[in-house]
Amino acid sequence: MRSNGTGNAAAVIMSSFILLRLAARTSAFLPPLAIRRAMTTTGRISSIPSFVSSANPHAQANIAAFSSVARSMSATVTDAEVVVELPTNDSDEDLLKIRHTSSHVMAQAVQELYPEAQVTIGPWIENGFYYDFYFPPSPSDPSDPDSELTSRKLTDLDLKGIQKRMIKIIGRNLPMTEEVVSREEARRRILEQDEPFKLEILDSIKTEPITLWHTGDEWWDLCGGPHVESTGKIPKKALLLQSVAGAYWRGDEKREMLQRVYGTVWKDPKQLKAYKKMLEEAKKRDHRMLGKKLDLFSVQEDAGGGLVFWHPKGSAIRANIEDYWKSAHIRGGYDIVYTPHVANLDLWKTSGHNDFYRDGMFQQMDVEDEEYQLRPMNCPFHCLMYKNDLRSYRDLPIRWAELGTVYRYERSGTLHGLMRVRGFTQDDAHIFCLPDQLEDEIVGVLDLTEQILSRFGFDKYDIMLSTRPEKSVGSDHIWTEATKALEGALVAKGWDYTIDEGGGAFYGPKIDLKIRDAIGRSWQCSTVQCDFNLPDRFDLEYVSSEGVKERPIMLHRAIFGSIERFFGILVENTAGEFPLWLAPTQLRLLPVTDAVMGYCREVQKKARAKGLRVEVDRGSERLGKQIRNAEKGRIPVMAVVGMKEMDGERLAVRSRKLGDLGSFGVDELVDEMVACTEGAIEMTKMGEVENDENGVEE
Ligand SMILES: [Zn+2]
Ligand SMILES: [Zn+2]
Repeated sequence: MRSNGTGNAAAVIMSSFILLRLAARTSAFLPPLAIRRAMTTTGRISSIPSFVSSANPHAQANIAAFSSVARSMSATVTDAEVVVELPTNDSDEDLLKIRHTSSHVMAQAVQELYPEAQVTIGPWIENGFYYDFYFPPSPSDPSDPDSELTSRKLTDLDLKGIQKRMIKIIGRNLPMTEEVVSREEARRRILEQDEPFKLEILDSIKTEPITLWHTGDEWWDLCGGPHVESTGKIPKKALLLQSVAGAYWRGDEKREMLQRVYGTVWKDPKQLKAYKKMLEEAKKRDHRMLGKKLDLFSVQEDAGGGLVFWHPKGSAIRANIEDYWKSAHIRGGYDIVYTPHVANLDLWKTSGHNDFYRDGMFQQMDVEDEEYQLRPMNCPFHCLMYKNDLRSYRDLPIRWAELGTVYRYERSGTLHGLMRVRGFTQDDAHIFCLPDQLEDEIVGVLDLTEQILSRFGFDKYDIMLSTRPEKSVGSDHIWTEATKALEGALVAKGWDYTIDEGGGAFYGPKIDLKIRDAIGRSWQCSTVQCDFNLPDRFDLEYVSSEGVKERPIMLHRAIFGSIERFFGILVENTAGEFPLWLAPTQLRLLPVTDAVMGYCREVQKKARAKGLRVEVDRGSERLGKQIRNAEKGRIPVMAVVGMKEMDGERLAVRSRKLGDLGSFGVDELVDEMVACTEGAIEMTKMGEVENDENGVEE
């Protein structure tokens, strides 16, 4: 439906080296598809590689301002009694056209109100659109040309004025019409208007012809579409300008600082209302706010931006996540491996990352006159390890999983809580297999993905299969077979999926999986990608049953994407109310009097010995306050201890969700809690364990 133009190849090359990265983090803000497919109102975005590189923050700058709420909500949001199904750009092409046309209308409104404003780009994004404007500096005192130069800074009040003007333009119902012109003609018209950024965009469009889109005969922009037929088709009551934030031209801090105006628009006011409600809900769940409040993690500016410090409570959760992940992998037939965080740059030359991914890598360091590189990815290490031995077809499949910490150079303006950081741990794995093992291996990956994600309460997925792009490596045969295998695996799972034709990486087709959270947001997490490139670059081989050397197929896959980002999603999904098995403190003992302190310590020791995470309240406050503190700390189970409990060696148990659960013997409670922890289920009335929304029985 959306022509990517021939510029698609450039986007594909970039996305190829984005690899797990997109799954790992960036897509929270702009999913790979949105980036890839987004066309600016000033030309096809895919013709401008610097815009689409995930290493280049242009499209993602000032995320903080836009907050973590800016992502798709394909699920339902309860709006009073009405459940509103919020469409996405993928599910509703009309909505995408409305959003894209809205960015034209916004740019026109801004230039009508502020003629000095220069236009740059304005794509549709998930939930809306934006446009970046440049306001050239002018003397702050118009009567004094020597006065200090300042640029207009758009305010919230300005946004209201712009929105009003947009509604007027919508009211005039101006037709959107396309005009095809020569490059020279486009250049002539741009020069006439004195739009330097547009000229730069024109120069970066490598394909002919050049298309212009007119809004009535009042305004035009370089653009590849698509749009609604006329401005009147934009539902003005479902339109809202949201915020303004700074963004460098082309994400380059050496270039001009632009002002990016974000807007949202929906098919009808009911959808807008539901979206606004979702934003409110998201604000309450912001993982950065909860991370601080619950003392889970921090980013220490003294150490540098985007580097995460896991506090004891956050670490307790992470350790549980990792332990579960490891044991699930071992049971799923994987071997766990560890590889170094740094290696000779030659490795990254062999893999191609040094050529295509350099912007995302930290500066090299000198080691005895050789260049070493902090790793941005784990894949080359597993390739090296594969090559360490002569492999036979009998050895395959090989499945190596690693919680591999990687480091990527991200500009400070793009960093955002745990969602976009400079050091993070991928839950990475690589499978080396024979062509005829491929489908089974992919089914195995999908099974494990489902098992692990549902343990954390995520059981609604949006799945996308991405096929061969224009520029790719590998034979027709291998592409057909691998795509068939991916498709076959999805059919075997009985999962619905959409196909992104030509949206695969240059090295192979892939499946991406987004999870839906408790308030209907959708997050890119898991990915499984075939790779016909790295086995070639590293000259990986196995000896076939005929004694011939053949290339294995390599699969990259991640389930969480990154531990950091998944943890952030988990915090927002649970609003910090972690299920019992993950809670950093599972049980807090509340002593009614100091006389029972010794007994509490004994109980704590006993429960800890069984692996439970138990705290004893300091006991300096009244019981009511102790209970409130435990509730504020989102502690799932608390036990009140008075003289009666101590004498009877019992505990009066309260659950965060269910209130009083009654009196338990110490061993009885400990055993019950251990059983619930192992089964990832919540504590209920004694002996009546039941599935919690945040955990499922295996
Ligand atoms: Zn357009
Ligand atoms: Zn990989």
